Amino acid sequence: TVAEKSALDYADYHPDIIRSTEENLAVLGSLQKAIEGNQLSLDYQPKVTLATGLIYGAEALLRWNHPTLGPLPPEAFIPRIEQSTLIQVVTDFSLEQAAKQVSSWQRAGLELPVAVNISTRNLLHPGFADQLAAMLERYTIDGTLLELEITEGALMTDMERTIEELNRMTQLQIIISIDDFGTGYSSLQYLHRLPISLIKIDQSFVRRCPADKGAVSIVEAAVTLAHNMGIKALAEGVENATVYHFLRDIGCDLAQGYLVSRPLSADEFFNWYHSLDGTFRPPLPAMTGY
Ligand code: C2E
Ligand code: MG
Ligand code: MG
Ligand code: MG
Repeated sequence: TVAEKSALDYADYHPDIIRSTEENLAVLGSLQKAIEGNQLSLDYQPKVTLATGLIYGAEALLRWNHPTLGPLPPEAFIPRIEQSTLIQVVTDFSLEQAAKQVSSWQRAGLELPVAVNISTRNLLHPGFADQLAAMLERYTIDGTLLELEITEGALMTDMERTIEELNRMTQLQIIISIDDFGTGYSSLQYLHRLPISLIKIDQSFVRRCPADKGAVSIVEAAVTLAHNMGIKALAEGVENATVYHFLRDIGCDLAQGYLVSRPLSADEFFNWYHSLDGTFRPPLPAMTGY
């Protein structure tokens, strides 16, 4: 494939990475087997509305249960395959699984949008919007129940085509979010042209709140930016009650993180949702006044 070839070309000039290139090729090969062998699955992590605690939706996160290496986090293999056409196979898997889950939860009386992470290459792949339309029809689900998370970097590659593709997706009523906001280099000039509904503020800033004043000003600026655009802000990586209450107080709309819940299997998520009656009640912060 193109990715293998370019990785090998690169290795010619950088002999020190040859070993990792060989590792990459091994991962690529076993990924194909993994899909055939049912080693891939999705976990679901809740997103909650800060003002009310209402559970708003879930993010689908890919898991690879490798037969010899054990469970592999997505960061151990996604970055390696993002440059190759294999990422399409992985994205198709995640989308299909998520759509199937939305429709099965819907039949069980649980109606929540589920977000799938999308790579740059997917977004600009010809026919992607048509594929999404066909998938929604096949599972008889509304576009409003499917969310796509796209990282900032992905959006900046080919602005005009990206806007065109995203507009087609929003015509299907699919929700578009910017993931890891603050870590890329998005041009504020372009941001308002994108048909996005949600800005997900990267956990590297969220986790340093409220003690780190620099992080606080970035998070506050991102929330203000979202609100000025008429959209919502979500804070990623909320791990404790102090951060949760801080975010609620500054008017951030949504939160996601270990405080609310770790990513759960589909069945665990369903039981967790019902055990809370659909509302997360945060513990009191350990100290007041931040
Ligand atoms: P992401 O989309 O930014 O997902 C958030 C990551 O932060 C997840 O890691 C999640 O488990 C983790 N996380 C959530 N809450 C907390 C918290 O309170 N503290 C800490 N320390 N971490 C938290 P995960 O599952 O390892 O996924 C890593 C990345 O892999 C994701 O980042 C996403 O970019 C990518 N990814 C996951 N699934 C897929 C997929 O199906 N397709 C593609 N293309 N990428 C995926
Ligand atoms: Mg994400
Ligand atoms: Mg993120
Ligand atoms: Mg990430």
